[in-house]
Amino acid sequence: MNNKITIEKVTYVKQWTYNLFSFRTTRDESFKFIPGQFARLGVIDNTGKEIFRPYSIVSADYDEELEFYSIIVPDGEFTQILKNIKVGDSILVNKTNYGLLTTDRFEKGKHLWLLSTGTGLAPFISILYEFSIWSQYQKIILVHCTRTQDELTYQDLINEFYTNEFYSELVKDKLIYLKVLTRENSGADFYGRITTLVENKNMEISLGIDINSDDSRIMICGNPDMVNETRKILTERGLSISKRGNPGNIAVENYW
Ligand SMILES: Cc1cc2nc3c(=O)[nH]c(=O)nc-3n(C[C@H](O)[C@H](O)[C@H](O)COP(=O)(O)OP(=O)(O)OC[C@H]3O[C@@H](n4cnc5c(N)ncnc54)[C@H](O)[C@@H]3O)c2cc1C
Repeated sequence: MNNKITIEKVTYVKQWTYNLFSFRTTRDESFKFIPGQFARLGVIDNTGKEIFRPYSIVSADYDEELEFYSIIVPDGEFTQILKNIKVGDSILVNKTNYGLLTTDRFEKGKHLWLLSTGTGLAPFISILYEFSIWSQYQKIILVHCTRTQDELTYQDLINEFYTNEFYSELVKDKLIYLKVLTRENSGADFYGRITTLVENKNMEISLGIDINSDDSRIMICGNPDMVNETRKILTERGLSISKRGNPGNIAVENYW
């Protein structure tokens, strides 16, 4: 086995819906990451072949364990094996940290928008644990868009930031958590696709917070259609993608 790979143990599994679950693993002390980054996780199939996929890290960078949030894809090579993991099972973790969906890509900015669909919420939870963002930004707007209410996972954990002894003072006047549903008409703050809500500015109007290139820093993660369309709408409004050596307003991660 490649010496970048460690074998970790599963310590916790939570099934949210028939096709969504989270799990935690032990963390090798040499595994470092920046909130927003992803790990490469591996499972072994019944022929002995190792299969790896990128997975955003949900947990805080200071957490002793690693947490991940997964979809189960029908016929998906990786998730059809991963869906059976239980506490005590082994999982392979590549020690290299990957990914550019990190807040250090931005400079200044008053408002940090975290736009996610489905499991694209994962990196943003890790980012919420990042203490520095709470002094850096005046408002942090976390948007989680799913089809149905039962897919609006992690609500308790997100709401706990308002009361947690270490975060509440930092977070309470800054965190705005918006739940969005596309296929149901109750149980959320907004209805419709993120692209539509960015285009018609409904979220901005209702919050009284304008998206513009001076104030806004925007991270987008999840379904590639949503990511690419939203990015297009925002660049047409004068915002730009952050690039190495040229910090802009937008950072994105496509999941497939
Ligand atoms: C940088 C990065 C980070 C990622 N982080 C996560 C994560 O935190 N959680 C997670 O569940 N997946 C994540 N993914 C996707 C993940 O790597 C796998 O694609 C997914 O686990 C399915 O693997 P599979 O082999 O079963 O199916 P694949 O053959 O990899 O995918 C088959 C199809 O399933 C659909 N699909 C794949 N992933 C998703 C998804 N997350 N939500 C909805 N539909 C999907 C797509 O249509 C894709 O073409 C990430 C991908 C990238 C590139």
